[in-house]
Amino acid sequence: MNKIDHLGIAVPNLDEGIETYNRLGFNFLKTEEVPDQKVNTAFFEVGESHVELLQATDENSPIAKFLAKNRPGLHHICVEVDDIEATLAKYKAEGVRLVNEEPVIGAGGCRVAFVHPKSTSGVLLELKEAGGPGH
Ligand code: ZN
Repeated sequence: MNKIDHLGIAVPNLDEGIETYNRLGFNFLKTEEVPDQKVNTAFFEVGESHVELLQATDENSPIAKFLAKNRPGLHHICVEVDDIEATLAKYKAEGVRLVNEEPVIGAGGCRVAFVHPKSTSGVLLELKEAGGPGH
């Protein structure tokens, strides 16, 4: 694993979330819709890493489901890996519970896959392949 790429924070309202993090002095980068995940996102730069705010675009979005069960707040952590397929294969062999058995397209067109919180001490884990588009 190379680094923590970003922390994902679920928000009910993206504009309010952006305002909040701007006020806190985070460096706003961009907003981006990720249709695969049914979310609108906003990225802030924090050194080499980012904070990603996520708002649901649909009631079937994972973020809508999360907010129905939890308060707004930390939704996932994302780590960058060199080879996402190799990492998923290793996890599968070890019986790690995966949300995505194959990579899907995340923000920035990157290949990502999520690991279930049951296998990560309670926090959804996103794997992101290094060197994809947007780098
Ligand atoms: Zn993310």
